[in-house]
Amino acid sequence: MPASSHVLVVAAGRGSRAGAGLPKQFRTLAGQSLIARTLHALLSAHQDLRVTPVIHPDDTDLFSEAAGLLDATMRERLHASVFGGASRQDSVRLGLEALALHDVAPDIVLIHDGARPFVSPELVLRAIAAADRHQAAVPGCAVTDTIKQIGSDGAVLGTLDRQQLRAVQTPQAFAFPLILAAHRQAAKAGRNDLTDDGAVAEYAGHSVYVFEGDVINVKITTPMDFMSAEARLLATLPDIRIGQGYDVHSFTDGDHVWLGGVRIPHDRKLTGHSDADVVLHALTDAVLGAIGDGDIGVHFPPSDEKWRGARSALFLKDAIDRVGKRGGVVAHLDVTIVCEAPKIGPHREAMRAAIAAIAGIGIDRVGIKATTSELMGFVGRREGMAAWALATVRLPLGPT
Ligand code: MG
Repeated sequence: MPASSHVLVVAAGRGSRAGAGLPKQFRTLAGQSLIARTLHALLSAHQDLRVTPVIHPDDTDLFSEAAGLLDATMRERLHASVFGGASRQDSVRLGLEALALHDVAPDIVLIHDGARPFVSPELVLRAIAAADRHQAAVPGCAVTDTIKQIGSDGAVLGTLDRQQLRAVQTPQAFAFPLILAAHRQAAKAGRNDLTDDGAVAEYAGHSVYVFEGDVINVKITTPMDFMSAEARLLATLPDIRIGQGYDVHSFTDGDHVWLGGVRIPHDRKLTGHSDADVVLHALTDAVLGAIGDGDIGVHFPPSDEKWRGARSALFLKDAIDRVGKRGGVVAHLDVTIVCEAPKIGPHREAMRAAIAAIAGIGIDRVGIKATTSELMGFVGRREGMAAWALATVRLPLGPT
């Protein structure tokens, strides 16, 4: 990199055009939130690149969860979040003001939409080079459709020369002092209608240059965008693995059991170091098996007092996060519970919902079946219960 560069990632929007309840940048895209994918893409572009996210104060927990998926060397380059403002323009300005408070402000700042997860390292490096050369530059792609200018009645006023048009994306790239001053000037004048940072620089009287964008670098906005982005990402996860897990716990006196993350009243309880949730333990081993990463006892040794009485959701979540760190997703989880009692049927849907929530996948990707042991063996004698589990995991191709 020719100069010290910093990326502001703007992720403070409340946009819900993409459907569902969460702000779109926190919605899941092939197993990982949109913002987690964007951060990973940016931090992968160059080992010296630093990133400051601009988020809404309500999203602090969601953001921490997303950032938790980054590996340690990436997290070191992820600076503390800045809270955004009422508009995108305000959010960018607040982010720039936060960078101005650093001991050493960056030479170059890139400003990137949190909802553009397909930004490539090449595009980031082109942006930095363009800012170094021009002080204000935006990535643009040739327009392939013919663009008509129309009046309020829908009548065509003219046909624009598409040779002269570019569809502009992010990351937009600027000399830091230039764009900071331009944003301050626009805010002071009450101009908050500028739809990109290039327009803010233009408003302040600077020449803004266009460098080559990337048609893959789309902004995810509508439900259709999510669907096509998901299809594209799944196509990059062709290494399909099946993992298997098995667990047993014995009964003792008690008044409830934990199964699949659900507390079920029963005249016995299961013994164990943790909450003895035989279903979540079998699932945890199935997920770990699919990625060849030891078993539950390796990661959470029963000899460690730390895990006494622990909720087993923690174990499954950890295994799922290991899949995320490998760039993969969990496609499906399936359990068979073997016991004479309690009855599983009445709790099946609650268990599916709990497991789906822990794993961050849709409930239609979780199966729960139950059978008795026909009064045979230790299960038949009601000495304990067992669970068998399968997990299907999709990983990228690669030596890992
Ligand atoms: Mg166990």
